[in-house]
Amino acid sequence: MQIPLIDLTAQYSMLEEKILAAVKKVLRSGQYINGPEVRKLEEKIKEITGSKYAVPVANGTDGLVLALDAFGIGQGDEVITSPYTFFATGEAIARVGAVPIFVDVKEDTFNISPELIEEKITKKTKAIIPVHLFGQPAEMDAIIELGRKHQLIIIEDACQALGASYKGNPVGSLGDIGCFSFFPTKNLGCYGDGGIVVTDNQQVAERIRMLAAHGSKVKYFNEMVGYNSRLDEIQAAILNVKISHLFEWNEKRRLLASKYDRELKNTNVTCPKAIEGVKHVYHLYVITSKYVNEIKHHLEQKGISTGVYYPSPLHLQRAFLNLAYKTGDLPVSEKLASHTLALPLFPELDNRQQSYIIDCLKQVWIK
Ligand SMILES: *Cc1c(COP(=O)(O)O)cnc(C)c1O
Repeated sequence: MQIPLIDLTAQYSMLEEKILAAVKKVLRSGQYINGPEVRKLEEKIKEITGSKYAVPVANGTDGLVLALDAFGIGQGDEVITSPYTFFATGEAIARVGAVPIFVDVKEDTFNISPELIEEKITKKTKAIIPVHLFGQPAEMDAIIELGRKHQLIIIEDACQALGASYKGNPVGSLGDIGCFSFFPTKNLGCYGDGGIVVTDNQQVAERIRMLAAHGSKVKYFNEMVGYNSRLDEIQAAILNVKISHLFEWNEKRRLLASKYDRELKNTNVTCPKAIEGVKHVYHLYVITSKYVNEIKHHLEQKGISTGVYYPSPLHLQRAFLNLAYKTGDLPVSEKLASHTLALPLFPELDNRQQSYIIDCLKQVWIK
């Protein structure tokens, strides 16, 4: 049996007719930018996230950059975030000219440790970007409390967590602004790049809409220097087909995760911990173990693909050498980088495949 870490073609096969019809409709309409499909998607995302405004952008990274820019964050400012995330989180901060300040994560949830944030807050700190890593909301009560106390903007990097919630409230609507990605592998993915930001702040929403369109509200009249960051009408049409399945897909991911949790209890792997009161949507199912290399090798031989997220924490990336961090500064993130492994998990993974993966994992301990 060959099992990929994630299979994007299974979903396409299931929806092929509907997707082709939706794409064809756009192609025939002649309206390829900012048409009715994009508007429709905005409405659906507002509904899912419970936000007043949703502004589509070209990708999740742009969403973060535009959010920072719209709040006036840039040169001379500091932004606190997690070092254990996809590079884009730190990159967006540096891209607007601000300095990323990395605060270590918790070993069992992989998310930023709120207890370690306050000591890093200075006069220059303007914002915190919690990342809802692998689909699990960060500890938002504590983070929002810190934001209030120190008057910091909270920008949620919810790129991996569309549909997740924290104490009953959807991610994206917990802080001042939330950023989502529609990269193909995300829980809701298009067939190219895409993203959207959500907020209840009308001024900020308008500013991002303007920034994303060359700083203009009225075509050919530019009020500020902006970006060209739009979601294509074709991608929006694809997302509008897929979005009606998001809830069911997330539930399937949660079901698969709970089977892994149950079955891997008495092995040498530690399953990811879901904290009290959150709805985790398992963008990835990431285990930790001293023996990840052995496990990876064994599963490979059995035809099972795994992945390492992420092999290097951001503070040790060459691109951030200028920030002068060194090995040992953020020990939990550094340890996780060499002790984690993502197991195959996607909504179409069937029972037989998952049981095979579990059996193979158990063999590692019998040998
Ligand atoms: C995917 C991702 C991004 C960037 O999204 P893109 O659409 O690929 O630009 C940012 N942050 C996190 C945590 C992500 O997983």
